[in-house]
Amino acid sequence: MKAVAQRLAGTLVVAFIVLVTGCGSSRVVLPFALDLTALTPPRDPAGFTSNEDAVRGIAAIMGRELGLPLPARFTVFIYSGRAGFERGLVEDAHVAPMRAAELSEFAVGIGKRRLLLLNDEGSTARGREWLRLIAHELAHVSQIEMAEGEGRAEQWLAEGMAEWVAFAVLERLSLDTIANRRAVATRGIRNHAALVAARLDLETLGNPRGFTVRHLREGSLPTYQLAFLMADYLITRDGFERVVEYFRSCERRRDRYANFRDTFGQGLEDFEQEVLAHLKRVVR
Ligand SMILES: [Zn+2]
Repeated sequence: MKAVAQRLAGTLVVAFIVLVTGCGSSRVVLPFALDLTALTPPRDPAGFTSNEDAVRGIAAIMGRELGLPLPARFTVFIYSGRAGFERGLVEDAHVAPMRAAELSEFAVGIGKRRLLLLNDEGSTARGREWLRLIAHELAHVSQIEMAEGEGRAEQWLAEGMAEWVAFAVLERLSLDTIANRRAVATRGIRNHAALVAARLDLETLGNPRGFTVRHLREGSLPTYQLAFLMADYLITRDGFERVVEYFRSCERRRDRYANFRDTFGQGLEDFEQEVLAHLKRVVR
C-alpha cells in the first residue's frame, strides 16, 4: 500500500472550518488533498499568506526535494491554546485522555497517521518556529506513512530525522541552515547527562515511552538536540535516502534491531559506541 502517496489527481482542495468553542479557544480544520508533482517548492516564506500556504509549501519541499513520501490526503488541526489542544488530541486524534494530558503539557504539535495537530498558543505570529513545527510534525506524518504505523522505528531516529528535515526545510526557505543548527546543538548537549555519563542508552531512547521519560528528566531541548545530532551523523555518513529506506523497512518487519542492522550494516550497540565517540569529539 505504499503507492497511495503522492499520486492523487486534481489540485489542492482546501476547505476551511473554523469552530469556535468555549473559553475563546478555537479549532481550525484544514483538509489537504495534495498533488505534489503540481507544486513548486517555495524559496521564500514571504509568499505564505496563510497556514494552508505554509503547509503546502513545506510539503512541496519535503516531497519534491527531500524525496519524502506524504499521504495524498491528510488533515491539519490547529488549536489556540493548551486546553483545546488536549481536547483535540482526545477527540480528533483518539489519544488516550491520560496521555493527552501529559502530551499537551510539553508538546505544541503532534504528527499522527494522516493527521497533524498543532497548538498555536493563541499567537498570530507566523515565524520561523511555527514553520519549523509544521515541518517537524509533517516529517512524522511521512515516517508513519512509510512504516504504516506509529512507534515502529527507533524513537530517537524518528525525532532526530524530523528535526533534520525541519532544518533542511528552513534552509531552503533561507531562514536557517543545518550547519548552524548543528553548531547550536553541539553547544547545547555539552553538559547533557548522557554525554557526561558516557552512556547514550539507545535502548531507552529507542522507544516512545523511554524517549519521553528521558526528555522530561534530562530536558527537552538537549534531548532533541542529541537526537538531531545522532540522526545528522547517520545522514552525513550514509545519506538521507538510507534513512528514508530505514523507515520503509519498518513496515515490512517489526524487529527494530534487525531493521537497523540490515539498513545501516551495523547493530544498534555498535552504532551507539561510534556516535558516542563522535559526539564526545565534537563537543570539545
Ligand atoms: Zn517529534
